[in-house]
Amino acid sequence: MTRREAILEGAQSAARLHDRLGVRRQVEARAGSVDVFGAILALGTPLIFRPLQGLLGACLPGPGIMISTERPLPIQRFTGAHELGHVALGHDSSLDGDEILRRIGHNSGDTVVSELEVAADSFASAFLLPKWLLQMHARRQGWNRASMADPHIVYQLSLRVGASYSATCVALERHDIINETTREALQAKPRRTIKAELLDGVEVDNFFPDVWLLTERDEGSTIEGQPDDVFVLRLEEQGGAGYLWTTSGLIDSGFAILRDRREVPPPTVAVGGPVTRALTARRTEPAKGSFSLELRRPWLKTGTPLAALRVAYDLQGKEVGMPRATRRHLRLAA
Ligand SMILES: [Zn+2]
Repeated sequence: MTRREAILEGAQSAARLHDRLGVRRQVEARAGSVDVFGAILALGTPLIFRPLQGLLGACLPGPGIMISTERPLPIQRFTGAHELGHVALGHDSSLDGDEILRRIGHNSGDTVVSELEVAADSFASAFLLPKWLLQMHARRQGWNRASMADPHIVYQLSLRVGASYSATCVALERHDIINETTREALQAKPRRTIKAELLDGVEVDNFFPDVWLLTERDEGSTIEGQPDDVFVLRLEEQGGAGYLWTTSGLIDSGFAILRDRREVPPPTVAVGGPVTRALTARRTEPAKGSFSLELRRPWLKTGTPLAALRVAYDLQGKEVGMPRATRRHLRLAA
């Protein structure tokens, strides 16, 4: 089998499994990411998360899948998709270290890799980052092809698809949405800088947590992150007409508001026009739930709000031990 055939085999196998499990329907209903651990469980493959020495993951004869607890959730997800590839492609067994990440980060054929690994890599990318998933989020957010040259936008896309920033850049190139030059420029932008620009002066202990930018476009979405991720909400307010965003839904859901301010447009713009409400919020412990913010006249506590932002969140972070049972919502078609 040539390298090209291995890539094709991996991608086709991922697309077939999406069909068998109804992955696209489920992702579109939740406006989230591909549930890779749910897919492993739906195939009846045993899955466990353990501290593995020097390995990101392994596919063992049986088959069964082990994933390291030493890495954050996006890496666990990518490792899971790679190991699922070995299972779906009928490979015997595989022990995988950091090299699977290096291979995806470069998108090149420089290193000598077995066809089995090439096929599993290809499966992982196609399973986690199919073109329809990137397009779905772009449509929801109002992003176009030109937007994909903006590191801030690609970073927000990577959070929503549950992949690393680098893997997302490579997927955009693989789907011919950006070219190689753009991919390299995106990858050269430090994530730390992107996060600092987004936080705009809000102090954090370090830049490991992700920073999500949420707007009205995220209405009805499901987000999956780490417990200490920070959320910047930018929402349009109609102060002149008395409509303000209520923040009680965020506080009731356990979030602390780190900053709350209004960005008033310059005086050249008509007085009483829309104002951007910029909220920075964070939870500090693992949690799963939802919050709802409403745009309403504060003196009218009841009635239908003018707009709402409802977001389901899973901030339980990386998996440890047995996979979280709540992921079992994928089913094999009969
Ligand atoms: Zn492998």
